[in-house]
Amino acid sequence: MIDFDRDYRMLIGGKLVGSTQTLPAFNPATRAEIARVPDATKEQLDEAVAAAAQAFRSWSKTSWEQRAAVLEKMAAALEANAEGLCRLLIREQGKPLAGAQVEVFGGAAWLRETAKQRLHDEVVEDGPERRVVTRFSPLGVVGAIVPWNFPVMLAMWKIAPALMAGDTIIVKPSPFTPLSTLKLGEIWKDIVPPGVFSVVSGGDELGKWMTAHPGIAKIAFTGHTETGKHVMRSAAGTLKRITLELGGNDPAIVLPDVDPKAIAPQLFWAAFQNNAQFCNATKRLYVHEDVYDAVLAALVEFIKAQKVGDGSEPDTVLGPIQNLPQYEKVIGFFEDCRRDGHRFAVGGEIDRAAKGWFIPVTLVDDPPDDSRIVVEEPFGPILPVLKWKDEADVIRRANDSVYGLGASVWGKDLDAVQRIGSQLEAGTVWLNEIHQYSPHQAFGGHKQSGIGCENSLHGLMEYTNWQTITLHKKAALGPATA
Ligand code: NAD
Repeated sequence: MIDFDRDYRMLIGGKLVGSTQTLPAFNPATRAEIARVPDATKEQLDEAVAAAAQAFRSWSKTSWEQRAAVLEKMAAALEANAEGLCRLLIREQGKPLAGAQVEVFGGAAWLRETAKQRLHDEVVEDGPERRVVTRFSPLGVVGAIVPWNFPVMLAMWKIAPALMAGDTIIVKPSPFTPLSTLKLGEIWKDIVPPGVFSVVSGGDELGKWMTAHPGIAKIAFTGHTETGKHVMRSAAGTLKRITLELGGNDPAIVLPDVDPKAIAPQLFWAAFQNNAQFCNATKRLYVHEDVYDAVLAALVEFIKAQKVGDGSEPDTVLGPIQNLPQYEKVIGFFEDCRRDGHRFAVGGEIDRAAKGWFIPVTLVDDPPDDSRIVVEEPFGPILPVLKWKDEADVIRRANDSVYGLGASVWGKDLDAVQRIGSQLEAGTVWLNEIHQYSPHQAFGGHKQSGIGCENSLHGLMEYTNWQTITLHKKAALGPATA
C-alpha cells in the first residue's frame, strides 16, 4: 500500500532513495508546508543517467508489443492508485477533484493509447539491385522537465512516447509540484525495469544539469518561453534533441451571431480552466462589437456564480494560484491595469490576507492592444475582453503576438468560423470547441510557443533517430573467401 501523505523518495536505478538535502512542498490553498522532498545532488543525477543508459541497452531491443504491455500495466497501476494520487494532486497543485481526475485518468488513457502506436520501417526502394529502408531507432536517455500546472498529465505526454519509442527516461517535476511525480516512481517501481523510468526531484539547477548532461540524448521540456531558450542554449553544447512546449497567449474570436448566454460558460472554461494556469487558456477574448456588451454581461453573471476556493472542498470550481512567485506575478498584472486606468468588469480586488494564494476571476473591459495584459501571458485568472468589428483586422490582431500555441473561433456561421480559423497562426486551432486533446493528435507551438510537437506519430518520431539502411544486392565484391 502506498502512503500518499508521506515518504517522498526519488526512483533511481529501480530504487527509492532520499538525498542529503531536502526542499519544501506547500499546499497553495493554505500556504502550509506539507512535505519535504529530496533535492538531488549532481552525483545522483549522474547515477540516474548511468542507470538509464545501462537499461537502454536491453529496453531499446524489446519489441513494440513488449513495451506496449508495460505501458498497459503502468496505466492499470495508475488507475488502481487514482484515489490517493488525486488527493495528493489537489493538495500540492490546488486544483479541484475534477481537474485532478482529468490528469490521473487522462494520464492512464494516454499510456494506453500511446501503447497502440507504431513506427513502421519505410521501404523507400526495393529493386533488383538495391533495397533502401528508413527506420526509426531509439535515441537513448531522455530527460523530461515538467512544469507545475499539470504535473501528472504533462509528465505522461513525455513518458508514454519515450518508453514506446524504446528510450529510457528521467523525469524531473517542477520544484513546486514534486509530490505526485515522486509517487509515480513508487507506483511503477516494480512494473518498469530498473533504470527505464526514473524520477529525480530538485530545483531549477537540476534542470540545468540535465540540459547540459553528456549522457542525455534528448530534453523534452514544458515551461516558460524564456526557460525554453535557456534549455535550447544549454542543450546546444551536446547537440541534444529538444522538444519545447512553451508559453502561449491564445486568442479566441467570437462572431456576431453567437447566443451570449449559451456561449458564456464555454468561454469561461476556455479562459479559466485550471484557474487559467494553462498554456492553452484563452488569454485574449475578441468579441464582435454587436454582441460585446451582451457577452460581457453574460460572462460576468456566470463568473459571479463560480466558487474560487480550496480544491478539496466539493463545490470549488477554481483553486488557488499554485505558488507564491506566480501569485505575485499575477498581482502585478492587476496593478498595471489599475495604474493604466483599465476597467474591471468583474473581480479586481485581491485579499492578500486570504488563507491561500487566491485571486478572484477578473475581466478587463476592452484595454488597448498594446497593454501588458493583452501582450503578455498572465497565467492567472485575469482576462482582457476586446472589441472587434472588421474581420481582417481581428485576424491581424489575433496573430500579432510572439506566441502561436493555440487559438479558437466561435460562431454559428461555419464558413466564417473556418475562414477565420484557417488564417490563425497557432499550433492548434479549435473551432466551436476548445481544449480537445488526443494522444493521436499533434500538439505543439508555432513561433515562440515551441519547437517540435508532442503526441501523435509525429510526436513519437521525435523520440527516435531516422536511420536509412541501403543494401546493394549485386555489389561486385569478388568471390566468397570462406
Ligand atoms: P518554468 O519554465 O518556470 O519551469 C518549468 C520547468 O523547468 C520546471 O521543472 C523548472 O524547475 C525547470 N527549469 C527552470 N529553469 C530551468 C533551466 N534554466 N534549465 C532547465 N530547466 C529549468 O515554467 P512553469 O512556471 O513551471 O510553467 C508555466 C509555463 O509553462 C507557462 O509559460 C506555460 O504557458 C508553459 N506551459 C506550456 C505548455 C505547452 O504545452 N506548451 C504546457 C503547460 C505549461
